[in-house]
Amino acid sequence: MSTHIQKNNTKKKNNIKKYLDFTFESLQIEGYEAVYKITNEKTNLLAIIAMHDTTLGIALGGTRIAKYKSFDDALTDALRLSKGMTYKAAMSEVGLGGGKSVIVIKDNKDKTEKLLKSFGEAVAILDGKYICSEDMGCTPKEVMIIHEKTKYVVGLPHEKSSGNPSKFTAWGVFKGILATLKKLYGAASIKGKTIAIQGMGSVAHYLIEHLFWQGADIIISDIDETKLKKFSNVAKIVKAEDIHKQECDIFVPAAIGGTINDETIKDLKCKAICGAANNQLLEDRHAQVLKDKNILYAPDFVVNAGGLINVSFELDKEGYSPIKSRNKIDNIYTSILEIFKIADQNDITTNEAAIKLAQFKMKSGIGRRTDKLYFHHTKEND
Ligand code: NAD
Repeated sequence: MSTHIQKNNTKKKNNIKKYLDFTFESLQIEGYEAVYKITNEKTNLLAIIAMHDTTLGIALGGTRIAKYKSFDDALTDALRLSKGMTYKAAMSEVGLGGGKSVIVIKDNKDKTEKLLKSFGEAVAILDGKYICSEDMGCTPKEVMIIHEKTKYVVGLPHEKSSGNPSKFTAWGVFKGILATLKKLYGAASIKGKTIAIQGMGSVAHYLIEHLFWQGADIIISDIDETKLKKFSNVAKIVKAEDIHKQECDIFVPAAIGGTINDETIKDLKCKAICGAANNQLLEDRHAQVLKDKNILYAPDFVVNAGGLINVSFELDKEGYSPIKSRNKIDNIYTSILEIFKIADQNDITTNEAAIKLAQFKMKSGIGRRTDKLYFHHTKEND
């Protein structure tokens, strides 16, 4: 999914509603079912909850807590991320819709318990229209604080919840890498292949284990050097600004969005890209630039769906099952190969093929959830 969003200049008036100390301003954005700017002067909350499309189920997506240059930047982030969630959910057939929220802070010290609880109250006011979870800047522990005010939360460090999704996301990325190698070389074998990872955070920590034991030659980087030291005997370390220039079979973006852009594409020496980061392409057109350079791109929202698939099982009547979750994440291998095939057959980019396939699933109602959702970590379930 691209990070580039066209916001329309609709003349429709935004609707403002007051709930206790909260103001919910409904922003009219074309192509989005509902977008709220939420403020609470007493708690200093400024948040956006974006629900892109709920054709297949209730909107679910992480809560990003970040500093933004402007409100418009925060809105753009919420919009592009919630749209990405729609396609991610559709492709992985989890019976959920695309949502995302951001809490805007001016300084890291603004992320207080009071602010998190206030956001929880805002989610509670929406009464189940949006389900939140962790995301950049918001740890599972902090989601637990949000949960004190609302049951509409998943991915909690709680015995009846699914915990941190990173190891499931990493397993999906690993499956995506195998599929990409199969397409490149005819065999899903990692032995002797060079894999360059950008960002050694939570997901990459689990991914590197799988890659190491399968015999990969690994190159790593991070802007934070403390993240690299413990891997110095299993991987070659390069400067963060050089990672995308490495000669390798697969480049794995696992840090931030937009790292595939006009500047970086010129320097790429990989055969393929397959990674965890959301919105790797700065703009959708970069998928065509990659295709022209003969670099195979495994669409991010298909590759990194493991975390979403994992939390989705929490909502089933039977309760969370890591086994069911792992088995469903295994399907990322076949999904990626299917997307490569559709792209080849229609001479389109793999990104376009993935979006078209997701849209087809939405149109046909494939994977739509009709059962009630269960929040097993909450005492009452009705
Ligand atoms: P994380 O915050 O734990 O790790 C990100 C790492 O990237 C950090 O170590 C950071 O220092 C590093 N980094 C930041 N900018 C960098 C740069 N320019 N070059 C190199 N390193 C840089 O995040 P994570 O949970 O591991 O997720 C990684 C990516 O995958 C994110 O984009 C996230 O949105 C996406 N993602 C994560 C999950 C999940 O389950 N955690 C699910 C889907 C998508």
